[in-house]
Amino acid sequence: MSERTGLDRRILARANALADELVAWRRYLHRHPELSFQEFETTAFLESRLKEWGLQPVRRTPTGLWADIDGTAAAPGGRRRTVAVRADIDALPIHELNDFEFRSARDGVMHACGHDGHTAILLGVARTLLEMRDELPGRVRLLFQPAEEQLPGGAPQMIAAGALEGVDEVIGLHLWSLLPTGKAGICAGPMMATADDFTIRVTGRGGHGAAPHEAVDALACAAQMVVALQQVVSRRVNPLRPAVLTVGTFRAGSNFNIIAQTAELTGTVRTFDEDTRRVIVAAMERIVEDTAAAFGAKGELDYRYGYPALVNDAAVTEVFRGAVRDVMGETALVDVEPFMGGEDFAYYLKERPGAFLFLGARNEAVGAHFPHHHPNFTVDEAALPYGVAVLTATAWRLLEGRAAGLATAAV
Ligand SMILES: [Zn+2]
Ligand SMILES: [Zn+2]
Repeated sequence: MSERTGLDRRILARANALADELVAWRRYLHRHPELSFQEFETTAFLESRLKEWGLQPVRRTPTGLWADIDGTAAAPGGRRRTVAVRADIDALPIHELNDFEFRSARDGVMHACGHDGHTAILLGVARTLLEMRDELPGRVRLLFQPAEEQLPGGAPQMIAAGALEGVDEVIGLHLWSLLPTGKAGICAGPMMATADDFTIRVTGRGGHGAAPHEAVDALACAAQMVVALQQVVSRRVNPLRPAVLTVGTFRAGSNFNIIAQTAELTGTVRTFDEDTRRVIVAAMERIVEDTAAAFGAKGELDYRYGYPALVNDAAVTEVFRGAVRDVMGETALVDVEPFMGGEDFAYYLKERPGAFLFLGARNEAVGAHFPHHHPNFTVDEAALPYGVAVLTATAWRLLEGRAAGLATAAV
């Protein structure tokens, strides 16, 4: 038996004792969802809870805040660490189709990604840590972050406002509809993708379908671009690096006997690393410019960068794994494959070592089996205490310098 067992058991017991409150907070938030960057009521709700508990929330962005919990126990080795734990608090522009009594009270706005659960979990972490403050060997910063669902994301705003100042490591989780309640998954390295989108505009010279020599055919030119773009991933990208370049729409032409004056393509690019992303963007620029030039047309690439890839630090991932096994049980930990969706937690991981966990919240018996962003989405509330316990236990281990120890050992 590890020396941790006693502490982990007490953390889990406290998290379980909060179960009713976690459900109440989550349902209140679910009933009152707010869109990205508009989370004013949510933030006011959080602010008053935290103040009620004697904390001093810092609010330097319109709808985001953080609060520090200072443990009073001695830090191991005398090095006092700070670990940030992040929850995203925003909802989506979706009209809820669930009919439970705490369904969204706002038409067209819904917590359809589980961020209501993340927020409730972080409140639970606060309560648990406050109850165990005299044993806590360092500082935990709770980050309540707005606008995960909308570019440019709330994370860069929080970072610019100083949310990571003095922070050694940062952790977070997502309730995950692809995993059953009681399981959790994580992988070291890239776990979520960049999610960029683009528009390509081709301008030629319209004309009569019977007189191509008098015109510049934007449609034929754009068709060549679509073909050439298929070679970017297959011929330019390192085959050991995953990447997707999809052209999703092609609009050109107005009639059978008219040569198209303009054409427009849109699509998305997904990768797990910045180098691959740069290679793809550079190749696309060349294809668009040079193909247009070859046709005597004008080509323009409007490339919009989404969130960066989410890359988990290997040592912090290992600490997370240990906490999942010790708190949720040996069989709780599963390996997950990287997921090609985007997540703005990636920004924190560009600044500090940290990791992000997928926490199972799927349970058909309670209707929690719809995909994220579905109008019938909901989470299994039985997952909430696990979230509290795993985040608390992981933060605690990091305060003890576990990840730093692993990182040094690995060198
Ligand atoms: Zn989402
Ligand atoms: Zn989400």
